[in-house]
Amino acid sequence: MPTLRTLQELDREGLLSPDPRLATAAQSMAIAITPEMLALIDHGDLAHDPIARQFVPSPAETEVSADELADPIGDEARSPVKGLVHRYPDRVLLKPLHVCPVYCRFCFRREKVGPGGEALSAAELEAALAYIRAHPEIWEVILTGGDPLMLAARRLGELIAALDAIPHVAVIRVHSRVPVVDPGRVMEELVASLKPRRASLWLGIHCNHARELTPAARSALARLADAGIPLMGQTVLLHGVNDDVETLEALMRALVTCRVKPYYLHHPDLVRGTGHFRVSIEHGQALMKALRGRLSGLAQPTYVLDVPGGHGKVPIGPAYLGDDPDAMVVEDAFGARHRYPG
Ligand SMILES: *Cc1c(COP(=O)(O)O)cnc(C)c1O
Ligand code: SF4
Repeated sequence: MPTLRTLQELDREGLLSPDPRLATAAQSMAIAITPEMLALIDHGDLAHDPIARQFVPSPAETEVSADELADPIGDEARSPVKGLVHRYPDRVLLKPLHVCPVYCRFCFRREKVGPGGEALSAAELEAALAYIRAHPEIWEVILTGGDPLMLAARRLGELIAALDAIPHVAVIRVHSRVPVVDPGRVMEELVASLKPRRASLWLGIHCNHARELTPAARSALARLADAGIPLMGQTVLLHGVNDDVETLEALMRALVTCRVKPYYLHHPDLVRGTGHFRVSIEHGQALMKALRGRLSGLAQPTYVLDVPGGHGKVPIGPAYLGDDPDAMVVEDAFGARHRYPG
């Protein structure tokens, strides 16, 4: 079965309840649900299904609050050439394409991604590479998009080879949802394209619920890990998807057993029409505190907020140090307080 891409197709699968606002929601962002993700949806309880919530358009997307932004993390202000974002001196984002295997309704680039959004032309890609060559302070290039693993293996291999040929680029990081949502794409040729000869390549895996790690996804991750590619996990904290401690604990454990080191737990960005996914920072911090007491350090992500306006990411806690000016007081993972000299 092909990927579902229209409201009619979703309706045929019984994924929608009629609502006049759905057409507007569908216009605000492309739709794509891969067969692997469709197979995971529990039709008996669509409203609370963590997979359906992520990919099926909701009437709530038409509700835009005053705090929400078209460019929630201020990428545009930091883009010196098309497709490239240079916010931190030592690393850049490079976005060769806007296409994704699925379209996540909470996406912070929801106004940019989609089949209509064009890939960089050969000349634009060359201009981005020229910028990287001309800036020796760039130590790391992060390929994102869209989803870089949607490129044909040969094109991805050529892009990685071009970056590998720039001596000051020590690390190439690729961020992708493909191994989880479309694991069949992770074939020998694609894995081989992810092996630069000189630079180190790290692969970030976007995964929000343990249920996404199907046997096929686990095999795809195993093929990548067996090829020697270090894997890290990125999760977005989402109301109704993973905003309870049991779900997060199961996800982090599942990632580690797939040899994926949890890296970031992202506080949801102020994206237009995503209020139904938002969680308070206090709740996020309480979840992180609970995880600290339950999970191996290996399975702990860092909880981060991307500060609106292009100011970058900051870890947002929770804090374990008290604010007593006369003594250092630390709180342990179980809530007890202890004095620490100094
Ligand atoms: C997230 C991001 C990075 C990578 O940040 P890390 O903390 O290194 O993962 C780099 N540049 C931009 C513009 C980003 O948004
Ligand atoms: S795969 Fe990533 S970039 Fe694409 S829609 Fe989902 S969150 Fe956005």
